[in-house]
Amino acid sequence: MTLSHQETLQQRVERLLPTVVKPGRYVGGELNQIVKPWDSVQTHVALVFPDIYDLGAANLGMALLYDILNQRSDVAAERAFAPWIDMEAALREAGIPLFSLENKRPLADFEIIGVSLPYETLYTNFLNALDLGGIPLYSAQRDKDHPLVIAGGQAVFNPEPVAPFVDAFAIGEGEEVVLEIVDAYQAWNLADTSRQDLLTRLAGIPGVYVPALVSVEYHPDGTIKQVKPIHPAVKLPVDKRLMAKLPPPLTHFLVPNVEIVQERVSVEIMRGCTRGCRFCHAGMVNRPIRERPVAEILAALGTGLDQTGYEEVSLLSLSSSDHSQVIPLIERLKNLLTERQVNITLPSLRIESFSEELMDILQKLSPGGGFTLAPEAGTERLRNIINKPLSDADLMATVRSVFQHGWNSLKLYFMIGHPQETLADVEAIAELCKALLQEGRRLAGGRVRVHAGISTFIPKPHTPFQWAPFDHLESIQTKINLLHEGLRGSKIKLTWNDPQASLLEAWLSRGDRRLAEVIHQAWGNGARFDAWGDQFRIEPWQTAFEACGLDQNFYSTRVRGLDETLPWDHINAGVRKAFLLEDYQWSLAGEVRPDCRQRCYACGILSSFNELRLAVPGGGWGCP
Ligand code: SF4
Repeated sequence: MTLSHQETLQQRVERLLPTVVKPGRYVGGELNQIVKPWDSVQTHVALVFPDIYDLGAANLGMALLYDILNQRSDVAAERAFAPWIDMEAALREAGIPLFSLENKRPLADFEIIGVSLPYETLYTNFLNALDLGGIPLYSAQRDKDHPLVIAGGQAVFNPEPVAPFVDAFAIGEGEEVVLEIVDAYQAWNLADTSRQDLLTRLAGIPGVYVPALVSVEYHPDGTIKQVKPIHPAVKLPVDKRLMAKLPPPLTHFLVPNVEIVQERVSVEIMRGCTRGCRFCHAGMVNRPIRERPVAEILAALGTGLDQTGYEEVSLLSLSSSDHSQVIPLIERLKNLLTERQVNITLPSLRIESFSEELMDILQKLSPGGGFTLAPEAGTERLRNIINKPLSDADLMATVRSVFQHGWNSLKLYFMIGHPQETLADVEAIAELCKALLQEGRRLAGGRVRVHAGISTFIPKPHTPFQWAPFDHLESIQTKINLLHEGLRGSKIKLTWNDPQASLLEAWLSRGDRRLAEVIHQAWGNGARFDAWGDQFRIEPWQTAFEACGLDQNFYSTRVRGLDETLPWDHINAGVRKAFLLEDYQWSLAGEVRPDCRQRCYACGILSSFNELRLAVPGGGWGCP
């Protein structure tokens, strides 16, 4: 494409900007943005985050890939985000394709499109981005002249619902595999062979799943009969990619010109979790635990602050207070933060590992404000079933300490719809919240506030609850009504997720390859931004299910057979199916499985990845 075309696209976009909200989403030009002359590199990769800029620009995974790819002199990585509704309409009316922020090139100009799919409710936006970018939706419709479409992210541990739209999935951690995909693409390009040859080459890369080379057959009852390779290059299951040692943390942060959801320097302090909460997809698929050394975290935070001028840092992990060096880390951070007058956020604190000492330090660093805890269930019995064992007395003691340390606002997260949940368990959530508020007021007076946030349990793939059903909508509504009744007049704020949005997530996360047609039809029926409460509508989905002749309950409320082939069984997230099944059976018996740093349960990680671990020593693994 010529330079004049480039200018034309940019100018055409600029003419639209005064007509849309927050035009800064579409201009790029941020501090630390990397723009390489288009013709100076061999391979162009568009990293697409199929939600708006405000969210995507804060996504650490996308920022990491942007940095890693742009470190190569032969590659340019550029970014594209979903246009908001008004911009989509404006682009379509003007006939302007979705474009990258850096060189303002249409997506179709790139050799590789790398799509981030951290959650399932982005699927219709993903299709929309392909369509707006001028790229055929289905892999089978693309030829040698079309970009290669790669998808990665937490959602694709079950890739099947979007399998027909994707050429290849990168399963697991992307830092190394993304470079190997580029290498394979360049070698294929040089060889100038068929697109089928490209797919075959990709299938040979560990951690890469090419769905076009795998067939799925079904039993008459709709369950899966078999999943099998249709090319010798494919080996099933596809093992996820895993970094034996965490790669250096990101220090190259872009500083947006418009407000985004998180404006801070974020450093991942630990990957994985050893707690084994049975509902937690992230906790299961991101094993094993790997800690980042304190010195590396401090250096990255220092560089990030220098580069950005941000006034807040965040230490990211699934369970921050479980980092074995969390106290020395925060102690050493104190000077840096106080000197620069920078705030800290430490999300994902575990009640069990949250010490008085940590509370002391955090209160001094970030006084006041709110404190968040996630008991997840209202009774000890149910907390044992979900493997988040915590006594009411310990919870009360932690909350007491929170208020005594000067916090006056407490947010508590709970889920409803857990396996084996009774209405008494739900009523107990309200009683527990009231007891905690009462104790807070006794200790800290009338200014104490308690907020209960309720979500609905979704039985996720690769977890011990993957066989369990999603609760019925009527039952969920009854439970929400019970909570309303139980908290009436208590001054406790109650918020909850839309049960229909959770139902959609259940369909999409538990679906098989046939669901792709439902997603396509729902998108055609107008579904967009399904993760947005004010945009989501269930009707386009219900119509799509009917049109495709598929039963919604088959994917959501059905109890899966223990001997059934599940749609994601051919993806190895590291934890063995037999281990998950045993753990499910333990849950039915109410048995808990303590933190595996105390004792290894041979979940499958060591048998799958021990060689890798031995080849790269010093990775900070929590496994024995
Ligand atoms: S191998 Fe053992 S220690 Fe490592 S994650 Fe699995 S159960 Fe935990």
